[in-house]
Amino acid sequence: MKWRAILIAVLVCAALAGLVIWLQHARLMGHWLQVHTGTVNEPGPYYGFWSGFGSDLAEFSILGAIGTGVYQLIKKYNCHEPGCWRIGNHPAAGGQFLLCYRHHPDYRGKKPTHELIERLHRQHLEHEAALHSRLQEIQQRLDADRKEAPGDVVPGQTADGVTTPPRREG
Ligand SMILES: [Zn+2]
Repeated sequence: MKWRAILIAVLVCAALAGLVIWLQHARLMGHWLQVHTGTVNEPGPYYGFWSGFGSDLAEFSILGAIGTGVYQLIKKYNCHEPGCWRIGNHPAAGGQFLLCYRHHPDYRGKKPTHELIERLHRQHLEHEAALHSRLQEIQQRLDADRKEAPGDVVPGQTADGVTTPPRREG
C-alpha cells in the first residue's frame, strides 16, 4: 500500500511537471503547429513552396486528366489515316475506320459532291435490295425442304411460322 501511494504521488508530480512545462512552452509549441499547418507566419520556411511550386501540384493532376481526355477524344475522332489530323467522320470497311473525306476511298480525295452522294446512296439501296432478295431465296429454299420432309419440323414451330406445341408421332 505504501509503495502504491508513493507511485501515485510520483505520477501526479510528473504529470504536473509536464503540464507546467507544456504551459511554459505552449506558445512555442502552438507556433510550431501553426507554421507547419500553414495557418500563421506566412513568410515562413514553407510559404514559398506552398504558394509557388507546391500550389501547382494539384493542378498538374487536373491538367493531366484533361490532357488524357482530350487525347482519347482526338484518338477516337481523328482520321485513321496515319499522320492525318482531320476529323474522320466517314466510316469505312463497315465502321472499322473513321476517315476524313480526303482519305475515304469512296470520295477519292475530294469532298463528296451531290452526284457522288446520290450515286453512293443508290448503290447502298441496290446492295440492300440484293441482300434482301438473297435472304428471301434462302428462306424459300428452306421452306421447300421442310415441305419435302414434314417429320423434321422444329419443335414448337411449323413451316408456316405458326407456333404450336411440339408434335409427337408414334
Ligand atoms: Zn484523313
